[in-house]
Amino acid sequence: MKDQNNTEQSKHFLDQLVNEILLWQKKEATEKLHVDDMKTPSGRVHTGALRGVLLHDFIAKILQEHLSKQGQESLAKSLVNTYVFNDMDPMDGLPKYLDEKLYLEHMGKPLYQIPAPALDQCGIDLSKITNQEREDLLKANNFAEFYALDFIHAFRKLGCSQEIIWSHDLYESGQMDEVIRLSLDKVALFKKIYKEVAEYDLPENWYPFQVICPKCGKIGTTLVTDWDGKEVSFICQDDLVNWAKGCAYQGKISPFAGNGKLLWKVDWPAHWRTLGVNIEGAGKDHTSAGGSRDMANAICQEVFNLKIPFNIPYEWILIRGSKMSSSKGVGTSAREFTALFPANVGRFLFANKHYGQVIDFDPRSMAIPDLFDDYDQAARIYWKEEEGDQRLARAFVLSQVGEEIPQAHFLARFRDLALWVQYPEKDVFEEASKAKGSALSDLEKSLIKERLNYVELWLAKYAPEEFQWRARKDLPALAKELSKEQQLFLLELENLLLSKQWQAEDLQQAIFALAKSSVGPKLAFSAIYTAFLAKKSGPRAAWFLLSIDPKLRQKRIEEIKNLN
Ligand SMILES: [Zn+2]
Repeated sequence: MKDQNNTEQSKHFLDQLVNEILLWQKKEATEKLHVDDMKTPSGRVHTGALRGVLLHDFIAKILQEHLSKQGQESLAKSLVNTYVFNDMDPMDGLPKYLDEKLYLEHMGKPLYQIPAPALDQCGIDLSKITNQEREDLLKANNFAEFYALDFIHAFRKLGCSQEIIWSHDLYESGQMDEVIRLSLDKVALFKKIYKEVAEYDLPENWYPFQVICPKCGKIGTTLVTDWDGKEVSFICQDDLVNWAKGCAYQGKISPFAGNGKLLWKVDWPAHWRTLGVNIEGAGKDHTSAGGSRDMANAICQEVFNLKIPFNIPYEWILIRGSKMSSSKGVGTSAREFTALFPANVGRFLFANKHYGQVIDFDPRSMAIPDLFDDYDQAARIYWKEEEGDQRLARAFVLSQVGEEIPQAHFLARFRDLALWVQYPEKDVFEEASKAKGSALSDLEKSLIKERLNYVELWLAKYAPEEFQWRARKDLPALAKELSKEQQLFLLELENLLLSKQWQAEDLQQAIFALAKSSVGPKLAFSAIYTAFLAKKSGPRAAWFLLSIDPKLRQKRIEEIKNLN
């Protein structure tokens, strides 16, 4: 990010966080910085998981920026920014959009060993998908990769550039062998750690490892009962978990080279050790006392002899008032969420809210127009067109996806565009030019065109009733209040409309004349808006009526006829 204006950085929460990380780095004398985050792709990934991805992407990029400014080029260059997909984890639940007949038999298998769903049965809204994204999904080798790709598309759209790592690659290539051996050899240490950190007594013959059953292919059903330094003994159990049944196979197998994986509480710090991760935040649900983060930290230090990675406990995104969780299947998916705004505005949502605070976002309220307004204001502060909080200006800079920060330009207000585009007598570009006070540049015109896509999506799916200025598909309940005379006026109006090919100006005159000779202009126009908009006023009547699909218009007149 080339910040030409050299915005005051020290006060923005992300700059403060990065300063803390760099102080920690000096104290620990860390020679290489590796930022990481992880996710199990157990189905459609929901918006909540974007919080971590954006936070880690900001951290990696700001670290690089700060280090370069401090002349620490080699540390800046060696910085690594990864996202791990835990695709060895077992399928432990069936998302409701999956066909049970196809997927029930796969419960308990590692996610990367399960076939990808068909596009029309995957539960993802693909209406906004690009051809390239569709091709990616069609080429997905397995279930985990399919849903991971769906999520990757979403966070790439927001300009996140993490390198992707597949956990099963680490296991199969033998890169995890060393941590597996350490974990099996030091099993007594785990018992001490579980007791101290979580006050939990592990069973006698417990091992932090599960093998993929060579007979039935399941991993969630196997229990390791012994380790002789070369092989583990295991049983594939019928009743180990209630979501999958094992095949009762017993045997011995090498735990290395992808034959199984560490249990997830151990798997997390094992990845830190194997990859060299030293900066990784976690959602607040992991960071309660005695929770999985405390456990991972203790294992990291005591079993793997590693310094604890820098932690950033971060808060949730609440969408429509409910906590985003992929296992509960509530709320919008990450793909749907990122389709709501252009990349820079989407990034701004995360750059402008402290990671320790909940983002509460209800797309059906005014949250989307408000977000665009905040973004525009931040831009104007950065461009010194408006006085204001410099942290907003910094958030604007951090929200840019490319290298260059845009030069000052006019930004047409989202909610104005939403109004103009629904008023057929108005030309959006003329109105925007009037609002600007001068002619629009090509860039400004193209940005308006881009914004109109998001405006149309908002109007179609989320905009509150008071922002809807297009003819309703169904007869509004309010139409019952139309008087006999008003109903009659609407029937005559339809005859007028059908009598010739109208120009809007001429039609407006004719409507006036018809109104004066019947119910009078006030009741006449209110009848039009009541019947089509459920409102008392609206766009100019002639332009409005001519913009309505004639079939819908005639259907409405029939509905009015049948009112009594
Ligand atoms: Zn089995």
